[in-house]
Amino acid sequence: MGILLDGKGLAEERRAELSTRVAAFVDEYGRAPCLSVVLVGDDSASALYVRNKVRMAEKVGMLSRVEHLPADASQEEVLNTVEELNGSTDVDGLIVQLPLPKGLDPEGIIARISPSKDVDGLTPVSLGRIVRGLDGSRPCTPKGVLTLLEHYGINCAGKKAAVVGRSALVGKPMALMLAQEDATVTLCHSKTRDLGNILKDADIVVAAIGRPAFLQPDSFKPGAVVVDVGINRIDDRWVGDVSVDGLSEVASAWTPVPGGVGPMTVISLLENTVLLAEDKK
Ligand code: NAP
Repeated sequence: MGILLDGKGLAEERRAELSTRVAAFVDEYGRAPCLSVVLVGDDSASALYVRNKVRMAEKVGMLSRVEHLPADASQEEVLNTVEELNGSTDVDGLIVQLPLPKGLDPEGIIARISPSKDVDGLTPVSLGRIVRGLDGSRPCTPKGVLTLLEHYGINCAGKKAAVVGRSALVGKPMALMLAQEDATVTLCHSKTRDLGNILKDADIVVAAIGRPAFLQPDSFKPGAVVVDVGINRIDDRWVGDVSVDGLSEVASAWTPVPGGVGPMTVISLLENTVLLAEDKK
């Protein structure tokens, strides 16, 4: 039987540790680290994600600040808000909630976030630092995945890893960060030929596709570690990209959805904010 990689439980443990670190920061500097979120428009899922981040930040004793702009905000208005937050000494971490309403250029907006406040690790500078092997904010989902693997003593060095999905948010940084951990990585996407054989050969598979139950347990090599980043809504349930029926009989370790990578993403965001606040001192 494969072990379940309990992201929810680990995120709770790390939350307790982070609360202590935040309290020490407050004692030393007389203020709490502050996470600022720019939310544009009224997308209900985005609003829910933002509320969740704010609630989690407050739980560990951090401050949060939400700048809510209307759906018809112009590119210039969003950029001005980002610049204002870049310049604010009260703000340690800054994220722009994606997706943005149509008509806005997310690349231009993300690129404007100061790397010194880039807690999502998604600016060209932060992503470039991964390529160069330099320190910096790491994108929260891949960071959360690696933290989870490390916690369970899963060493990536020398392993064959397959990442399915090549977004700048998850797949690409995940592949680079696994390579940094000395895994031999294959980055797969919708045009990949022979995905079946690549998966059957992989010791570690990270699925970040966004298609419910796209991968089946018999897709994997017996003993593989299977990390499911996908979050897909079916009626009133959330499911991943991997079908879990029979998965524990094939995989040596696997993440559930919900309760796997999701909570690790949020805790990574908070940890990145505290790291940047500490760096500023
Ligand atoms: P995305 O930008 O839509 O990227 C999806 C990727 O999957 C693309 O690279 C696409 O390939 C690839 N893909 C699609 N169909 C495929 C197929 N048939 N075979 C192989 N690859 C295929 O999505 P994303 O933002 O990376 O998110 C992926 C999933 O993770 C979503 O369910 C999202 O909700 C979830 N997510 C979860 C967390 C978390 O904290 N757990 C965080 C972020 C995202 P092409 O590039 O060729 O189109």
